[in-house]
Amino acid sequence: MADIIQLLPDHVANQIAAGEVVQRPASVVKELLENAIDANATQIKLIIKDAGKTLVQVIDNGKGMSATDARLSFERHATSKIRSAEDLFQINTKGFRGEALASIAAIAHVELKTKQELDDIGHTIEIEGSEVVSQDVAVVPNGTSICVKNLFFNIPARRNFLKSNNVELRHVIDEFHRVALAHPDINFMFYNNGSENFNLPSGNYRQRIVNIFGNRTNEKLVPVEEDTEVLKISGFVGKPEYAKKTRNEQYFFVNNRFVKSAYLNHAISSAFDGLLKPGTHPSYFLKLSVNPETIDINIHPTKTEIKFDDEHTLYALLRSAVKHSLGQFNIAPVLDFDRDSSLDTPYDYSKKPTITPTIEVDKTFNPFKEEALSGVRVAAARGGASKDSPSWESLYVGLESKSNEHEDDDFKGVEFESEETTETIFTEDNEVEKIQTTYQIHNKYIVSTIKSGILVLDQHRAHQRILYEDFLRNMTIKEGVSQQLLFPLQLHFSSHEVHIIENLMEDLTHIGFIFSNIDEDLVEITGVPVSVPESEVSIILEQLISDVENEVPESNFSATDLLAKSLAKSLAIRTGQSLQREEQEHLVNKLFACKEPSVSPTNRTTFITMSVEELDKKFI
Ligand code: ADP
Ligand code: MG
Repeated sequence: MADIIQLLPDHVANQIAAGEVVQRPASVVKELLENAIDANATQIKLIIKDAGKTLVQVIDNGKGMSATDARLSFERHATSKIRSAEDLFQINTKGFRGEALASIAAIAHVELKTKQELDDIGHTIEIEGSEVVSQDVAVVPNGTSICVKNLFFNIPARRNFLKSNNVELRHVIDEFHRVALAHPDINFMFYNNGSENFNLPSGNYRQRIVNIFGNRTNEKLVPVEEDTEVLKISGFVGKPEYAKKTRNEQYFFVNNRFVKSAYLNHAISSAFDGLLKPGTHPSYFLKLSVNPETIDINIHPTKTEIKFDDEHTLYALLRSAVKHSLGQFNIAPVLDFDRDSSLDTPYDYSKKPTITPTIEVDKTFNPFKEEALSGVRVAAARGGASKDSPSWESLYVGLESKSNEHEDDDFKGVEFESEETTETIFTEDNEVEKIQTTYQIHNKYIVSTIKSGILVLDQHRAHQRILYEDFLRNMTIKEGVSQQLLFPLQLHFSSHEVHIIENLMEDLTHIGFIFSNIDEDLVEITGVPVSVPESEVSIILEQLISDVENEVPESNFSATDLLAKSLAKSLAIRTGQSLQREEQEHLVNKLFACKEPSVSPTNRTTFITMSVEELDKKFI
């Protein structure tokens, strides 16, 4: 049989390589920005259109290229950055593979303009799908400008695979942040669809972080510095009280290269042990410098993963450096997240005037006589909350009541001093005759008896369904009830995030948010829906923004629906939260008053039932 193996033509090989290097517009952004940095630019402009799908352009004032280099730069494995395999262990540049430009040119329309400072004239090259369309001399400024248009024009399948502009833009911005954070000494500008999104002057690291994430970030930052023989750490961690629900403010740079490392992330999380609210993640912006010989950045084509020779030592050093900073800046002792929130004054109560307790002495009271007890309880409860107000919020009032039910009556008398306890006893007293119909198990499920058997519901999902329908209703009838804030709440966001909130403002207003001012990077709120605690507002909006950004593009996408889902998710009772009997019952009743009680807003089962027959079968 004849030989069948052939070498692939260059343009095919390049397209295959492009599959690894270029996943989306953000990959192009990363490669071009890194090339500009490697060219020692001090000013870099990034210009994109349609989230980079139509255009990604990077203009730098770096060293430029000669005519030959300009042409060679688009060849595969053509690089000025390494010469031999040994150089791989001494990498001080961002690139070294010589693959990026070749890959990008294989799947897009590329225009390069470049000039070296000492040359009189510059050069331009146009390439479309690996083919040089034109090459010329031209009068251009010093430095390099590369335009990448119509990404994946020759691979429709890849183009269709791209996500919505929102999602792709988020990736581009993430990439831009990473590069800009790694190089605060370089002036970066970012234009999106003709408007300036960022103009970051050169400065120190703290200034760069603040310029990207807003002025308010400044007060959040705690410096971390550590200088040892194996590792130098510098940068900042966010104070624990500013921890976020999302992980998007977590940055590790190793030798100025952004890396992801679950292991090192763990080192930081463990330094924050006990300081964070459950479900929140610390912010950090940490730069590690190590000897390039001790790392291997070669294990992943897009190079965000990294291998260290001695991970254990790095882990320990990082953890102790962060712990030390948190301690030194007096963060650790002042916070107490282990506090039992059930002991907090409920919102309803905080605005009520204090009631002076009245003392009524029941002269006929005889502690040794059983019947006397109930009389005293009723008297003591007078002045407490009205028994007829079982609103959802008020269900949180009071201490654990379950324990009382099983105690001997005689012991109940011991608890009379506290206002809250008397109220709990009061409710108990009225319900003594009522049969308990719900039980909470593992702080996760509510079990209830129904006519045909039993019902088990998932508390988190069920509550999500209830809140979701509430929010949707409020948005449609535009009747969300607001609670006015005493002082306006000023929240700082990036301009991109403010834009997202602006788009949702109408719906947010319908459910009860009141906005008094929206600026470039600031949102001022004077009212919030009654169901939203003031302290949670920023975390809820953050979650909302991240949900919008990560939305999967669907034809039936609706902002209203997404908003209701996101808020329901943020505010629903969590798994692990212990619920009192009234809360459990309320949850069951409210769920079955919903239009679609059987699934959560994200289509997960909210409850299951089991008939007596099914139970019987199990006992055969
Ligand atoms: P790598 O960065 O891995 O070397 P690239 O394909 O990204 O590979 O670039 C190939 C070469 O083109 C680089 O090694 C560099 O010499 C040159 N080059 C690319 N972009 C620029 C730029 N903006 N300024 C100057 N030279 C550049
Ligand atoms: Mg490169």
